[in-house]
Amino acid sequence: MPFTANRTFKSDPLMISGARGNHYILADGREVLDVSAGLWCVNAGHGRREITDAIRSQAETLDFVANFSHGAAPAFELANRLALLAPGDLNHVFFTNSGSEAVDTALKIALACHAARGEGQRQRFVGRQMAYHGVGFGGLSVAGLGGNRKAFGPLLPGVSHLPHTLDHARNACSKGQPEHGIEMADALEAIVAMNDASTIAAVIVEPVAGAGGVLPPPQGYLERLREICDRHGLLLIFDEVITGFGRLGTTFASEYFGVQPDMITCAKGLTNAAVPMGAVIVSDAVHDTILNAATGPGPELAHGYTYSGHPLAAAAGLATLDIHRDDDLNGKARALAPLLEAGVHALADHPVVKDVRNLGVLAAVQMHPREGAPGARSTELRHHCLAEGALIRAGADTVLISPPLTFGADEVTQVIEAMKKGLDRL
Ligand code: PMP
Repeated sequence: MPFTANRTFKSDPLMISGARGNHYILADGREVLDVSAGLWCVNAGHGRREITDAIRSQAETLDFVANFSHGAAPAFELANRLALLAPGDLNHVFFTNSGSEAVDTALKIALACHAARGEGQRQRFVGRQMAYHGVGFGGLSVAGLGGNRKAFGPLLPGVSHLPHTLDHARNACSKGQPEHGIEMADALEAIVAMNDASTIAAVIVEPVAGAGGVLPPPQGYLERLREICDRHGLLLIFDEVITGFGRLGTTFASEYFGVQPDMITCAKGLTNAAVPMGAVIVSDAVHDTILNAATGPGPELAHGYTYSGHPLAAAAGLATLDIHRDDDLNGKARALAPLLEAGVHALADHPVVKDVRNLGVLAAVQMHPREGAPGARSTELRHHCLAEGALIRAGADTVLISPPLTFGADEVTQVIEAMKKGLDRL
């Protein structure tokens, strides 16, 4: 099983047999709150009839076409919808089947773009410590979670990492974006000075680092990264696999922060996770550079997946975007965010708690590690919360909270009560 303690799972398997709305139904019939929206992805809640109907009807009309040299309407319709929703001149879409593939695709597009401009020597990438960018060799190389990398060799050459932005001394238990730390972006200048801008293709960051423990960017940090990238001709990629489709109350985080990247990677909430799909949304400039430089009849970008733009995924995506619009999921997220913020910060004074972080409908409660057993507390807290009817995601000594955007006030209260009881037991 992926990222699972397999031996522990075998000894005590948690099996899920159904899902509706904001709940999972466990194999023993109990209903529990899904505090992770699947895995940061079921933003509209489970079992949405509109999505199921769209998938069924698409399967009956055209089950599959490989978008290699011929196409089908659903993927083009979805690309057009995404181009309208994406900020500024991010108007072109390449479909993948996952966030990992979206990240690797974006890195390759960055290289192809520079090569098309006659700057093929720009091959280095800059990522960030504690980042998660999926598990492909590209994404793993720019990501910064040591535990995920250590068994897999040297990875891509020529990757530098910005420092992560977690600063317990200055920012512990900040609400929203921390006040201190804008200067951490200046590490990019140091990386440029060390390697020369002419060797660097792109910088990739999650606007809010998710799997690393929900790290909202310090105030002004993303703006400064954008300035430095502009100064040196580096492409800026926002990995919005988690933040895309409403988590911060805007369709994309770049809109929330007012910072426009050259590419956005997304997945998860794009189809409400009903069918796997990812996408890279690129600017006119990146797209035109690659297409205009091409000579001859061959493909401009020698890249793609058998299932790129799969009709069932595209149909699910279109139905999901309809729900986003018709149910105003962004507005729901904006209403939910302050409730979640108040809830998690009410736990900040608990003696077991070290830090509480949140932005939009994303939050993390980090605990002091138990001596001799780092990581144990979050698994125990998860266990206690499950007994109280809330299925929560545990990672290291942190629990991660990212419910469907359809969560109600009572459900937030139930989760916080469960966590409070669990923390008391710890
Ligand atoms: N990027 C980010 C920011 C993610 O959070 C994730 C998944 N959690 C990925 C990429 C990888 O997505 P997938 O698991 O669909 O490959």
